[in-house]
Amino acid sequence: MHLIRAAITAGIRPSAMILRTQPSAPWDRWDFLLLEAYQIVQDERCDCGNPIWLCHHTSNDIQFRIDEVTCEATAYRERQEESRYGGPNQKRPHGVSLRAIPFSPSGAPLASFRRDYYRAQAKKREALNADAGR
Ligand SMILES: [Zn+2]
Repeated sequence: MHLIRAAITAGIRPSAMILRTQPSAPWDRWDFLLLEAYQIVQDERCDCGNPIWLCHHTSNDIQFRIDEVTCEATAYRERQEESRYGGPNQKRPHGVSLRAIPFSPSGAPLASFRRDYYRAQAKKREALNADAGR
């Protein structure tokens, strides 16, 4: 999906992005089908991000679980706002906003954390799927 989105952003044929070919060739049947499929997925997306055909279905065989996620950068920024200004919207000087800038105290390249993150996410998904299979 991200390759089709990248192609749309770049204004090139989706198949050129997927197959890593030059985008100068004319659009073919597959480009139009890929674009149509991408648009169908976008059009069927609920406001919450899930497919509308799951969110709006009334079947008792569809249930939802809550996955709590914590943005450590937002948590840190909010704690700083509370300690500096007494709350998210109080006593803040005009025009001032806080941003959480990531850095590694050990000096590790930030990109090196990407693989660990996705491996942990994959393990989480495997555990959830194993639970669902019971
Ligand atoms: Zn929804």
